[in-house]
Amino acid sequence: MIDLHTHTNASDGTTPPSDLIEQALTAGLEAIAITDHDTFAGYDEALPIAAGAGLDLVCGLELSTKYNKRSIHLLGYFPVQPPTAEFRDWLRFNQESRRDRNRRLAQRLQSLGLDVKLEEVERLGRTLAGRPHFAQLLVQKGYVSSYQEAFDEYLDEAAKGYVDRDEAQLGDAIERVAAAGGIPTIAHPIRVTRDATTLRALLTEIKSRGLAGIEVFHSDHTPEDSAEYAILAREFGLLPTGGSDFHGDRKPSVRLGTGVNGNLNVPKAVLDRLRNQ
Ligand code: AMP
Ligand code: FE
Ligand code: FE
Ligand code: ZN
Repeated sequence: MIDLHTHTNASDGTTPPSDLIEQALTAGLEAIAITDHDTFAGYDEALPIAAGAGLDLVCGLELSTKYNKRSIHLLGYFPVQPPTAEFRDWLRFNQESRRDRNRRLAQRLQSLGLDVKLEEVERLGRTLAGRPHFAQLLVQKGYVSSYQEAFDEYLDEAAKGYVDRDEAQLGDAIERVAAAGGIPTIAHPIRVTRDATTLRALLTEIKSRGLAGIEVFHSDHTPEDSAEYAILAREFGLLPTGGSDFHGDRKPSVRLGTGVNGNLNVPKAVLDRLRNQ
């Protein structure tokens, strides 16, 4: 069993990289990929620990991208060679734009009467403070009663506190990942659309930009969904990938390696194919 979609506390997970490696070993996983949002910081920290413990750790990340004004997540895998220095520079640039958004978001929430300071959010989110940390703070301060309510009331794209961020376009992000030596992979397609025709049209378009993989297995996918995505993978010549989307205590129902109530079991052959393509 392997898990190619995990988050550490370097992005919006709650598990420190070293703990994640330990948990993966305890769970008997053969390999994991760390796919933090927009950063390799968690992977970099975990790599020597994984090497020492004999766990196969794959370098990855998850990028939030824009496509026709919608947000689509793109996974990038670097299973053979590390990402280029140019790509890491580009990530730093993106982090600056996120920080700028956070500054404006804090102002916006203040104008709505909420006492939320950028420094408080950054203390929670460290290198990659984002909306999940705003949500956490709103809960802590008692402005909302749950994490989800924070999004519904204030932080969701359709909510009153939302401010826009300068995100990469999906096609450009695919090209960046490919140029950096990575495998651009569409994340959790179930969250993109439930309409098969729309998904096919999207895959046709972005395959031409260099899309190379599709996340067939995911905690949000039913067995039927995964079967359908496996067929699409074959049809479009995309590499199948899969993982739990583990976020630690932030999403406690999602377990490392096994997903929600054991609905995940990603075969090791998936990783072998990523390495041998
Ligand atoms: P950011 O990149 O800072 O804009 O935050 C994006 C993250 O916020 C996503 O990866 C999700 O974890 C979370 N998120 C975004 N929209 C929602 C929502 N409507 N409900 C719950 N979590 C959300
Ligand atoms: Fe996340
Ligand atoms: Fe995602
Ligand atoms: Zn994820």
